[in-house]
Amino acid sequence: AAPGVRLSADCVIVGAGISGLCTAQALATRYGVGDLLITEARDRPGGNITTVERPDEGYLWEEGPNSFQPSDPVLTMAVDSGLKDDLVFGDPNAPRFVLWEGKLRPVPSKPGDLPFFSLMSIPGKLRAGLGALGIRPPPPGREESVEEFVRRNLGAEVFERLIEPFCSGVYAGDPSKLSMKAAFGKVWRLEEIGGSIIGGTIKAIQDKGKNPKPPRDPRLPAPKGQTVASFRKGLAMLPNAIASRLGSKVKLSWKLTSITKADNQGYVLGYETPEGLVSVQAKSVIMTIPSYVASDILRPLSIDAADALSKFYYPPVAAVTVSYPKEAIRKECLIDGELQGFGQLHPRSQGVETLGTIYSSSLFPNRAPAGRVLLLNYIGGSTNTGIVSKTESDLVEAVDSDLRKMLINPRAADPLALGVRVWPQAIPQFLIGHLDRLAAAKSALGRGGYDGLFLGGNYVAGVALGRCIEGAYESASQVSDFLTKYAYK
Ligand SMILES: Cc1cc2nc3c(=O)[nH]c(=O)nc-3n(C[C@H](O)[C@H](O)[C@H](O)COP(=O)(O)OP(=O)(O)OC[C@H]3O[C@@H](n4cnc5c(N)ncnc54)[C@H](O)[C@@H]3O)c2cc1C
Repeated sequence: AAPGVRLSADCVIVGAGISGLCTAQALATRYGVGDLLITEARDRPGGNITTVERPDEGYLWEEGPNSFQPSDPVLTMAVDSGLKDDLVFGDPNAPRFVLWEGKLRPVPSKPGDLPFFSLMSIPGKLRAGLGALGIRPPPPGREESVEEFVRRNLGAEVFERLIEPFCSGVYAGDPSKLSMKAAFGKVWRLEEIGGSIIGGTIKAIQDKGKNPKPPRDPRLPAPKGQTVASFRKGLAMLPNAIASRLGSKVKLSWKLTSITKADNQGYVLGYETPEGLVSVQAKSVIMTIPSYVASDILRPLSIDAADALSKFYYPPVAAVTVSYPKEAIRKECLIDGELQGFGQLHPRSQGVETLGTIYSSSLFPNRAPAGRVLLLNYIGGSTNTGIVSKTESDLVEAVDSDLRKMLINPRAADPLALGVRVWPQAIPQFLIGHLDRLAAAKSALGRGGYDGLFLGGNYVAGVALGRCIEGAYESASQVSDFLTKYAYK
């Protein structure tokens, strides 16, 4: 594009992370909206998704998200992107562990397994069972934190040994500040609809029976049991496949710097690009950039929207990938002579800094050469923001010294450090008040008359990749409705 060039499109999607790319793909495949551009500040698509490979040495690892839950919307997106045969699924029977009192203890994979696990005491299990049935204090009539909700409904042990580490695993978050309603809405709703967690589960099953789902798309693979998934060559295969299908509609190294209302209808977006300044006139815009970037860009349009968007908090997280020889794993951690399982989570009370460790080479094939294990460790988060001032070798050392407390033989040689990536603003926290702040941002845009300007991305839809993809389908439907109305104006 020549400097100062003006382009136009029915829809511009800002940000080519998973949310933006999937919105573009859904617009094109489901709604026939082809006149679109997707613009990305970085020189590669994928946003947080960052797969790295050392093919000569046989290593492939993730420096952002590591896997996704293979829900139907995600599988649909994968199949529509031509990746059906590249999907890889974790073993549904692979155990997950929680570190408790110096030992890695398997986590029950479903509530019915709870009685048989050593992670919790018998009184703790009884408290959880009674609470789930509704024998527990009533809701306080205000928005509860995850900690408050879980302690009240399921007791201290479920909170301390399962949910607190789970919050680290999903949000790298502080459960005393995360909102139950915003962060784990599906579970929160059970108590709302059924008076207790079990009552709500029964009600949800009954409702499902009354409103059966449409038949499942026969193209979708059927994962066995509860598991996680990725692609043969890592998560980046999905954004790369979508971006290559969209071809020249994807504009890399295009940084959005301004947005104004056009004189007639729609918006004018101003970009810094390698070829100089470019402006694009668009009938509709979906912003899937982080909220703190959207806040700055939208400030000239709506101070109220910008203020609300500036309040979401993204703590730092580092992804530290290390490899050890198989012999370095402690004997008591091997199952049939192998390191097996999804990985391990570490409650903050257990004296380790690392939040959790994914057994990448056990989970998916071809991640490490024979005889080696590949471990992806996350460190930092809301309760440990100091990681940003640590060096890469400090972070490797912190992770290695933690792993030697429970998984790695203390006398093992130093690990091979493959990748250290610090995400200074990693994951938006769905804190108490999150949904109100989001509603305030959207209604400020509505009051300002900014029709056709949509907010998307993980702070809107949810942080899990699956939620981002569901959110992308929702955004695409909203834009399609808007463009249909626009055509008749
Ligand atoms: C370390 C880490 C581990 C995670 N682990 C998991 C996991 O295992 N499983 C899981 O389901 N989820 C995981 N998540 C969460 C998940 O990765 C994210 O929620 C998801 O990738 C967010 O996608 P997105 O498209 O909404 O945002 P992003 O990926 O942040 O994409 C936004 C894009 O907007 C671009 N952008 C920013 N400013 C501008 C601008 N001015 N102009 C144009 N473009 C701009 C950015 O460069 C970026 O590419 C993890 C996240 C992190 C950080």
